[in-house]
Amino acid sequence: MERNALNTPKISENYEQSRNGQGIDGKTRLLGVLGYPVEHSLSPVMHNAAIAHLQLNYVYLPFPVHPDHLIQAIKGFEAIGVVGANLTIPHKQSILPLLSEVSERAIAVGAVNTIWRTEQGWGGTNTDVDGFLAPLQALPQSWQDATVLVLGNGGAARAVVAGCADLGVPAIQVAGRSAEKLQQFQTSWTQPTIQSRLSTHPWDALPTLVPQATLIVNTTPIGMAPHTDASPLPPELWALAKPGAIAYDLIYTPRPTRFLHDAQQQGLSIIDGLEMLVQQGAAALKLWLQQPVPIDIMRTTLETSLAQRSPS
Ligand code: NAP
Repeated sequence: MERNALNTPKISENYEQSRNGQGIDGKTRLLGVLGYPVEHSLSPVMHNAAIAHLQLNYVYLPFPVHPDHLIQAIKGFEAIGVVGANLTIPHKQSILPLLSEVSERAIAVGAVNTIWRTEQGWGGTNTDVDGFLAPLQALPQSWQDATVLVLGNGGAARAVVAGCADLGVPAIQVAGRSAEKLQQFQTSWTQPTIQSRLSTHPWDALPTLVPQATLIVNTTPIGMAPHTDASPLPPELWALAKPGAIAYDLIYTPRPTRFLHDAQQQGLSIIDGLEMLVQQGAAALKLWLQQPVPIDIMRTTLETSLAQRSPS
């Protein structure tokens, strides 16, 4: 999406020292994440590390905004000149009517995780799709004959489905536990390119679906810390997977999850959710700053931060 380049003011003096108290000055520009709750977000640490590396006079803050206060928060952001922000649960859908410009991708997904200031108001897009796709696009394989099995039909599954359609995957099979939610999921897509590729299936169809899949993506929270023994797929189903299939878990705590551990035991390749987190953040920061961003610094910072959070 095209938009005006933003000024990216730099701090000239010792940046580390300045961020320890002195560096926030009258020219500091604001970025942040709105969520409720937002205390556990890793975005501030990741973005501020990148900003520090680039020696820019920005700061990225967490904003706990109750769902009832989203409109006021966005108006307030406008009033105080916030440059851009991420949206997390529960604001990804409710932000949509407050935007003057929405990317095709965000419309397809039905959710926005990144907004930026425009002359008319706010623009929005969904960088979760970029984040999900990044590790897959780094692989040499073609997706033109692939079958993707998506476990779960929530918000992240929508980004995964849109991403798989972008990759050119012809068969996207979504499995869920609620027939009603699966039906809603199926009918919610208006784009013919997605409708023609998508099918939805009950959870008990997994023994039939797993052997067909080239890529199996867990978009459920099953297996996320502290419930690290749980997996959406029992090990005996992994035994049915195609040789060469890839297991992708959007969860990044623990690393690896039980789901990925079991896939690895079957000799399959695995991808965890950390790279998605890094790349969705990098895509957002690039949009706000209109310049390349230090992805390695963002990744290392997240890895360190996660290691410090994990119980030893
Ligand atoms: P969500 O909207 O709440 O969707 C969760 C989905 O999981 C729903 O379809 C839900 O089914 C299903 N589910 C939950 N428990 C289940 C169970 N016991 N058995 C079967 N299905 C179950 O959440 P989300 O925002 O999509 O996030 C999902 C996961 O992705 C989270 O772990 C999140 O941390 C991760 N994520 C990671 C990234 C990243 O950057 N790596 C980005 C986004 C999300 P029902 O619809 O039937 O309730």
